[in-house]
Amino acid sequence: MSEYWNERVKNITPYVPGEQPRDRQFVKLNTNENPYPPSPKVIEAIQKAAAETLRLYPEPASTDFREAAAARYGVAPGQVFPGNGSDEVLAFAFAAFFESDGKPILFPDITYSFYPVYADLWDIPFKTIPLREDFSIDPGAYLSFFEGPENSGGVILSNPNAPTGMALPLEDIKRIAEAAERNKKVFIVDEAYIAFADKTGTALPLLKEFPNLLIIRTLSKEASLAGLRVGFALGSDPLIEGLCRIRDSFNSYTMDRLAQAGATAAVADAPYYDEINKRIITTRGRVSAALEAMGFTVLPSQANFIFASPTAACGKNGKDFFAALRERGFLVRHFNKPRIADYLRISMGTDEDMDAFLEACKEIRNEELGMRS
Ligand code: PMP
Repeated sequence: MSEYWNERVKNITPYVPGEQPRDRQFVKLNTNENPYPPSPKVIEAIQKAAAETLRLYPEPASTDFREAAAARYGVAPGQVFPGNGSDEVLAFAFAAFFESDGKPILFPDITYSFYPVYADLWDIPFKTIPLREDFSIDPGAYLSFFEGPENSGGVILSNPNAPTGMALPLEDIKRIAEAAERNKKVFIVDEAYIAFADKTGTALPLLKEFPNLLIIRTLSKEASLAGLRVGFALGSDPLIEGLCRIRDSFNSYTMDRLAQAGATAAVADAPYYDEINKRIITTRGRVSAALEAMGFTVLPSQANFIFASPTAACGKNGKDFFAALRERGFLVRHFNKPRIADYLRISMGTDEDMDAFLEACKEIRNEELGMRS
């Protein structure tokens, strides 16, 4: 606490990202990065952009990227709003569409932990809606807010959800979009992990019908570009204009020249990314089955990570299992929070990494069972 801080800074609790160790001793399965390299075309484009022209500001509208993304996702270039990672786009969306003196916005009790941080930063009231016992989202709970006396200032859902990895069917997304639109409220669907979902689809087809729907995407996971910091929103003209108004009251150049070049090449190379992401989906199925065979509780994931608990397998709690994995050189993510403290979020690595990881899990489980017998 410092006397130089204003009230806003005194009162916020910032988000804490997963550890980024500076040495390479760990198998890093803790921040949902893609284990495969970016497309060679992306590297080539960035190398070409790393030139004398860096003395010039980037083009503020990121036209090349918006045109490439529009072609890839079947929207108009004016429906694309890029930014410095989807975290930034999310922060802008909270600032643009949710009221500080309005009805509370809604999101699940267990979801991306940046949402309450943005809400607090902009003084936006929020209510968390408990996931069901099986960790699925209950769409009826959101609908009843819009239909009841309490009403709501808007909704944000991550689909698939994080850290559970579980997806909500598109019909349910549509029902929430309808209820929010009837009340002229914005519904944000954060699709950070949608490229890994094989059982539910993107909300993109709903964009034509719902001017209040904002889809947020990131190149960090599906395009192996967490280090480039590019995310974007897809939505109706008024929503995109709202985001531009916030950006241009903050920093007109959120996408630098290297990011624009790399991101443009990335969205244009769907075949490369479809291939590596299919591999991740296959690995996810194999690792989920192997952990289940060891007695772990494993949630049905549609993302590039799985959420699993070792407690049923050997009695060890989530925190201790996390520490035992760390000692063996494996970094996963543990959230010390109600309902999920015995779960670990495990990002999918290469098959070789995951084989070693499964071996470590088996050792830790067997040691624990040995001590208990
Ligand atoms: N949304 C969700 C649900 C996430 O898990 C993440 C990654 N931490 C992000 C958004 C942010 O991704 P980025 O800022 O790297 O685009």
